[in-house]
Amino acid sequence: MIVALDVDFFNNKVMMTHLLSMPFITPLTLGFFGIPISYWLIMGATMIASLWVSSTLKRRFAEHSQAIIHFTGAQVAEMMLRSHGINDVRIIQVNGHLTDHYDPVSKTVNLSESVYHENNVAAAAVAAHEVGHAVQHQQAYKWLNFRSKMVPAVNIASQMLNYFMIMSMFGAAMMQSGFMLLLFVACMAVTTFFAMVTLPVEIDASRRALAWMERSGISSSIDHDRAKNALHWAAMTYVVGALSSAAMLLYYVMQLLGTNRDE
Ligand SMILES: [Zn+2]
Repeated sequence: MIVALDVDFFNNKVMMTHLLSMPFITPLTLGFFGIPISYWLIMGATMIASLWVSSTLKRRFAEHSQAIIHFTGAQVAEMMLRSHGINDVRIIQVNGHLTDHYDPVSKTVNLSESVYHENNVAAAAVAAHEVGHAVQHQQAYKWLNFRSKMVPAVNIASQMLNYFMIMSMFGAAMMQSGFMLLLFVACMAVTTFFAMVTLPVEIDASRRALAWMERSGISSSIDHDRAKNALHWAAMTYVVGALSSAAMLLYYVMQLLGTNRDE
């Protein structure tokens, strides 16, 4: 995903685990021919929503990258840090595209090549968003703290989801047990909750970025709408991720209730 707090990459991996594990675990739990329509509906809706948001995000970013401003992403990040009195956060360039993130451990704002060097509204918006996370960190923003505290638990849960996926491919019988399904649902509950907690963190970082861009006069009013639009679509990727995660969780909770009833 595009504008990421360090753990956002991680968050992505969690989402991928959800998506990847579903086709294996569900059929194996229910038997290949008994897959209910609700499974396909959730799967289909998730796929369509993700594709729609990510393609819109790409299109909007390409558009807003055409709007040239005076400063590069790196300069914007530097100015925003200084104006918040933050002097112990470094700005570094990282490889790749859409790899931007803030790392609270090393206290670095990591900007992808194009965001770092280019001077357009999309780059400025992404850079300011990442500094938004640095400001959250400096001010001990409660949702960021809470999210950081969850990371060890989410690590364990997502690791276990990986095992579940492998297990369900090689040992279908293991997934037939109600206890395994319960464990699986518990892991999904942790990662879903994490995706939910990510939302206020991301939305707040964008809010801080836009407020600062307006205050500092970095962008004209037209550019400001562009920056807002770019960050809106970036936030939508997190919204879709959290919603699909919640839908999948609900689905497996229903499965679990069904399994228990049969026993
Ligand atoms: Zn972010």
